[in-house]
Amino acid sequence: MLNPDVLQKFVSIVGPERCKTSKEDLLTYAYDAYVKEYLPEAILFPKTAPEVSQIMKVASAHHIFITPRGSGSGLGSESLAKQGGIIVCFTMMNRILEINTSNRYAIVEPGVVISEFQKAVEKLNLFYPPDPGSATVATLGGSVVMNAGGMRGVKYGVTRDYLMGLEVVLPSGEVMETGATTAKDVTGYDLTRLICGSEGTLALVTKIIVRLLPKPKTKRTLQAIYNRMEDAGNTVAKIIEAGLIPATLELMDKTIIKALEDFAHLGLPLDAEAILLLDVDGDPEVVEKQAALVGEFCRNQGARDIRVSQSEKENEQLWVARRSAFGAVARMRPTCVIEDATVPVSYLTSAIKRIMEIAERNRVQIAVLAHAGDGNLHPLILCDERDKDEMARVDKAMDEIVDYALSVGGTLSGEHGIGIAKAKYLRKQLSETSLKMMQAVKKTFDPQGILNPGSFLERAA
Ligand SMILES: Cc1cc2nc3c(=O)[nH]c(=O)nc-3n(C[C@H](O)[C@H](O)[C@H](O)COP(=O)(O)OP(=O)(O)OC[C@H]3O[C@@H](n4cnc5c(N)ncnc54)[C@H](O)[C@@H]3O)c2cc1C
Repeated sequence: MLNPDVLQKFVSIVGPERCKTSKEDLLTYAYDAYVKEYLPEAILFPKTAPEVSQIMKVASAHHIFITPRGSGSGLGSESLAKQGGIIVCFTMMNRILEINTSNRYAIVEPGVVISEFQKAVEKLNLFYPPDPGSATVATLGGSVVMNAGGMRGVKYGVTRDYLMGLEVVLPSGEVMETGATTAKDVTGYDLTRLICGSEGTLALVTKIIVRLLPKPKTKRTLQAIYNRMEDAGNTVAKIIEAGLIPATLELMDKTIIKALEDFAHLGLPLDAEAILLLDVDGDPEVVEKQAALVGEFCRNQGARDIRVSQSEKENEQLWVARRSAFGAVARMRPTCVIEDATVPVSYLTSAIKRIMEIAERNRVQIAVLAHAGDGNLHPLILCDERDKDEMARVDKAMDEIVDYALSVGGTLSGEHGIGIAKAKYLRKQLSETSLKMMQAVKKTFDPQGILNPGSFLERAA
């Protein structure tokens, strides 16, 4: 229980308006996009790095647990106060500080929403590729600390590939800068990348430097419709094997297609087993050629219908379906558990078959969505968390999906991270030595264990 005198010290740093303690506020910040509830004792909204530093100095002097938070769209309770204490929420540190067009980088505060940042750089003919499905709400800080991926991963990689440097506040309150604004930088250990993907356990990010690309001149979107899931999966593997690199390569199964139709009436074919959604981007001549080639691959692998967009507006219309997918499916049952196991792309078709078999055997409903081009599966497990028997079957299905992915050289998580949802599997993928090294890193950054306690590392111990 937070001592009132200590709480007052935090209030004196941010002011009473930026410290929330009402029951309603605490409940609002007790959730993210996973199924658990953890009540914090207060929420602070700093506006500057010196404020964050002072917060951490008080926290470390009084051994108060601190959990950083962006928009709370994480899928594994990463931003929740799992052992009580205070949430430090970065949504009020939301300024774009610099967009440097000569050297193609930008410096931003962590609370900037990804899609707002993308729009700002695109106005200057620049491009920030990382594009998680949550881009309209998720913050750049959250995406750095989760190393978020997204739709464009197949061609452009993930957040880590655009990260050049950070300013962070350590649990002690000290401020540290990492990286540089130069295109190349090999000065010492790469602390920037260490903090990227650390799930809020090492430091609080107060400034981010990201690399920008020139904006692709044009883009075409293709929608390919399949009677057989197997044909859609094989198309993806063949496209990648052939060395074609679409900007996005997304897959939706028949449950998702139906949910989308019920939700948004987009005119999607209800008798189809799968839809692939592909973007090709770049110079107009290249895009025309690639669109034709990719279309041919789809047709050769059995697509029954292929629609190619003819304008920006049509590109967007075709994407409405994919962007609405989580929302549409989440309406079907009270709980939707989003899996993230990832396999080498040549195993995509077998993985989807295995997931369907696992669903049937465990009597659970699973819809499959995938960033298919990089083998990143998102089986959406539709269930009701109040039903203990059903949730036991969901757990078993998840165990089996994870085991399958690891058995073919895949990984526990392609982009959503470990959180509390997957901590129990960590030892299946990481060796004792790797875990020990991670624990030693954590101890060096946070000897008192006050930053984001109850995180994946402790749960795996
Ligand atoms: C519908 C939906 C679609 C999604 N699609 C994708 C997708 O395509 N790809 C993908 O990778 N993820 C996806 N996600 C997961 C999630 O949106 C991303 O991980 C996102 O980057 C989290 O950003 P956030 O601002 O919500 O962070 P939060 O959830 O608030 O926090 C995430 C982690 O970052 C830490 N953190 C936040 N800010 C800071 C900071 N300033 N300093 C230190 N630590 C901090 C938190 O402690 C926590 O550990 C999706 C989620 C949903 C609900």
